[in-house]
Amino acid sequence: MIVIGAGVEQSIDPAGDELGRDRIGYGPTMSPLALYDATHGTWHLGERAHRERFALITHDGRGVLAVAVDRVEPADPGPQGSGRSVIHGEILTTGHPMYDAYVGAPSPIPPQRNPVGYFDAPEEQTACACGCDEPLPAGKHFASGHDQTALHERVRQLGSVVDFIAWFDRTHGYWPDINVVYEPVTLKDGSLTGAPARARHRLGCNHFYLDEDGRILNRPRLASLEEMASLRPCKTCQDASAKAATKK
Ligand SMILES: [Zn+2]
Ligand SMILES: [Zn+2]
Repeated sequence: MIVIGAGVEQSIDPAGDELGRDRIGYGPTMSPLALYDATHGTWHLGERAHRERFALITHDGRGVLAVAVDRVEPADPGPQGSGRSVIHGEILTTGHPMYDAYVGAPSPIPPQRNPVGYFDAPEEQTACACGCDEPLPAGKHFASGHDQTALHERVRQLGSVVDFIAWFDRTHGYWPDINVVYEPVTLKDGSLTGAPARARHRLGCNHFYLDEDGRILNRPRLASLEEMASLRPCKTCQDASAKAATKK
């Protein structure tokens, strides 16, 4: 969680503010939205800010606003920009665990000179994906080294790495170049049907639709990791891929 200490509300010249605001900081009569506008930027944020899912604005040692971070971006991306960033996100309210734990409560970090700090909140920890229950900070899947152990325990169940690869290729198929999805479209005008793709293809296979001028109607795009795992490879593309492999 990003923890930002906001100062007392003050009027500023909009011409001198990268967000064009006329006031910044915390005022006791501000609505949550006004407080968000006055405090979600502009800050010097490190790399870590981009991995954090929540931000807490504090004032005078107490939490005053909790935000679920959507994205962190430069206040002014131009070459004349200040290098300061803005946090964009959703204002949290009563009932959200981060709001309930930190808004109106003492700041989770001790007073510091830098207005920007970080806190590993217990509410945002996740358990290690190997199943060992070790709590992890937000954004991490495994405790250090546990991914290797979990993977090799599975390899050992099937024997050696050779046996594991043979099993993987037999059950899932090894088709790394069958990695393109054509978005389903209507034949009439090529508009997207919104339906999910049913198979993945090689780029350049002719399993798309052409209009009268020979333009491709379907929009090809790279398959996501999830689609690489869940979509079957097109049979014709498999044959083409196998032929290409034996030619080498
Ligand atoms: Zn673990
Ligand atoms: Zn195909």
